[in-house]
Amino acid sequence: MTPSVGGLQNGYKSRLGRLQEVMTREGVDVLLLSVGPDLPYLIGYEAMASERLTMLIVHSDADPQLVIPELEAPRIEAEYLDVLSWVELDDPIRMVADACKGAQVAGLGDHTWSVFMMRLQDHLDGVKWQPASTYTGSLRMIKDEHEVEALRAAAHGVDRVLARVPGAVRFGGRTELDVARDLKRMAEEEGHDDADFAIVASGPNGASPHHDPGRRVIQGGETVVCDFGGRVDGYHSDVTRTFVVGEPTSEMAEVHSVVLEANRAGRAAVRPGVACQQIDRAARQVITGAGYGDYFIHRTGHGIGLEVHEHPYMVEGNEQVLQPGMAFSIEPGIYLPRRFGVRIEDIAVCDPSGIDELNRAPRELVSVD
Ligand code: ZN
Ligand code: ZN
Ligand code: ZN
Repeated sequence: MTPSVGGLQNGYKSRLGRLQEVMTREGVDVLLLSVGPDLPYLIGYEAMASERLTMLIVHSDADPQLVIPELEAPRIEAEYLDVLSWVELDDPIRMVADACKGAQVAGLGDHTWSVFMMRLQDHLDGVKWQPASTYTGSLRMIKDEHEVEALRAAAHGVDRVLARVPGAVRFGGRTELDVARDLKRMAEEEGHDDADFAIVASGPNGASPHHDPGRRVIQGGETVVCDFGGRVDGYHSDVTRTFVVGEPTSEMAEVHSVVLEANRAGRAAVRPGVACQQIDRAARQVITGAGYGDYFIHRTGHGIGLEVHEHPYMVEGNEQVLQPGMAFSIEPGIYLPRRFGVRIEDIAVCDPSGIDELNRAPRELVSVD
């Protein structure tokens, strides 16, 4: 669950240093970070989501402190952290509040439990609160080479799963859940530390982009949207291919070819200096031009890293400019209510020359049994 710490200590220290520069520039005194991606990113440690508070306190002008239950403290080995462990009778909220004395502007981790947030607000009267992602987001958006390699390893792992699917996975006569379990197991066999999700959406369920796979039995002649992924060294994969059980109708083949063209147009638009919304426009234009604009009901893509969905988002209105090191999905789809859906999703990294395509699995409509 926790990205390895050894050897990367210096990397974490420099991330903390760059974060403190951002904080000074933006005028925020302290960041209070708990569960979610902030701790893995900054100190290589993932806090357990529990009623026992773990909180990293990043000061703009002093060494960071970590408030942590004593029973978790042995898992921490960063020598530049001031570790404040607490035992059952201590009040960790008060320890955090005491460490923040004098702070006027504080950032709070986006995933922090509200029960902790409310008690912190009681103790730190008059503090102006901001989401911590306002400050951490700009750093986390740009992946360094270790992060890109972890994302690449994850992408190649799910690509190998996709290569095995036509021979190894039976669709017709089995439930969506059966297929979802196969995909997760194969992702782990192909090097994932864990496989956190598998959307398997057959026939009419394919019209729901985030369908939760259930006991519906997949029939011959249906499309099946398979969207799955997991983590390698903390970094996510996320890939979608749409299969057809047996032979597609001409309409299915046509819809699939439009989505494939939109996916291609989205990838072709990637290069440094292009606004994120241009990636959305490039893909959307193809689908709208083919007459299916009303059926492409979500943004074209999302950033990816320690979280499956993170900044930057490929969506109309996002003028954020692509920079080398940004990693994100390109996943146009067409969803025909009560009938079927098609989505094709790949992860790409913006690099100095344009695009570094992490997923390379064939995108054509493949027939399965
Ligand atoms: Zn999604
Ligand atoms: Zn996906
Ligand atoms: Zn995605």
